[in-house]
Amino acid sequence: MQSDEHLYDLTVVGGGPVGMFAAMYAGMRNLDTQLIESLPELGGQVEALYPEKTIHDIAGFVSGKGSELIANLKQQLAEVQDQVSIHLSEEVIGLEKQADGTFILTTSKRTTHTKTILISVGSGAFTPRQLACDYDHALDGKQVRYFVKRLADFAGKNVAVAGGGDAAIDWALALEPIANHVSIIHRRNNFRGLESSVAQLQQSSVELVTPFNITGVTAQGEGVQIELQENKGDTAKSLTADTLLVNYGFIADNHLLKDWGLELERRALVVNEFMMSSEPGIYGIGDASTYPGKVKLISSGFGEAPAAINHISTELYPDRRQPLHSTSM
Ligand SMILES: Cc1cc2nc3c(=O)[nH]c(=O)nc-3n(C[C@H](O)[C@H](O)[C@H](O)COP(=O)(O)OP(=O)(O)OC[C@H]3O[C@@H](n4cnc5c(N)ncnc54)[C@H](O)[C@@H]3O)c2cc1C
Repeated sequence: MQSDEHLYDLTVVGGGPVGMFAAMYAGMRNLDTQLIESLPELGGQVEALYPEKTIHDIAGFVSGKGSELIANLKQQLAEVQDQVSIHLSEEVIGLEKQADGTFILTTSKRTTHTKTILISVGSGAFTPRQLACDYDHALDGKQVRYFVKRLADFAGKNVAVAGGGDAAIDWALALEPIANHVSIIHRRNNFRGLESSVAQLQQSSVELVTPFNITGVTAQGEGVQIELQENKGDTAKSLTADTLLVNYGFIADNHLLKDWGLELERRALVVNEFMMSSEPGIYGIGDASTYPGKVKLISSGFGEAPAAINHISTELYPDRRQPLHSTSM
């Protein structure tokens, strides 16, 4: 395993909206910061679960989509790229306090050394729920995908979307005008999406392949052959596509906080007014933390970030003044 010898002032664990803003704010306070996110994309629940949903309850962000909020946060992070390094597809899996009060973090890729830790892991590490059948995982990221990075990648392609919830329906509808052909495979005849989205799906040209389970996926040329078995029925058939896009939701796992011996309440980190946990040097914000009166909203997390970062800054650099407001960089 690779060992990163650099000693960071701060490691932000979790690149959801709250961790992204916290890392940006830490950069503005000139803290030497790294942000580690287990998924290949920043944005947490917003990007993974509801990128197309309109968000109405963030000050100064007027009825924008989830993906627009994340794009704005990425743009803000880019302004502090000299102070903040971003590590994607890397899960923090271990934590060890050193005698000098610093921490060694173990990730899925390396060990790394940090003076303080800000936990913004939401409900835990997200991993996409996989296809239930056995298949060659060498197809992942190519013919079989669990994420859509750029809609344009699907231009002119035949795409089969697997799933029956909002995300699957949203992707099928978003792909319809771009792809050559879109089908959606669901094990029930009824879809579990927003009524208006389901109505739109039914009126669209998206082919509804229901009620079928996927029982096999094999490479066929540049694409895939998908084996289907009727749910509670005898019909078996196969379908070919350039890409199978799987949307079975995400699994969140926050056993780490428990493993690290931190004080928890309802699986969230108990923090004080500085967002500090029961362990000095470890802070928690966003959905991952709790205190009396806690409200799990993006805007609450945005408020918690400066409270934590300014306290961390004062602890590490007592001579630095507290900022009154931002200035141009
Ligand atoms: C359908 C839906 C709609 C919502 N609508 C709204 C709304 O309109 N307004 C609103 O304010 N809130 C809304 N929320 C709630 C909002 O999304 C959350 O409050 C917000 O995402 C919390 O942000 P966060 O950054 O704390 O955590 P998250 O968004 O959960 O991000 C945590 C990140 O940490 C990463 N992570 C976890 N463990 C590790 C690890 N060990 N190592 C590295 N990375 C890790 C995860 O992969 C994830 O990316 C909604 C939630 C849902 C599900």
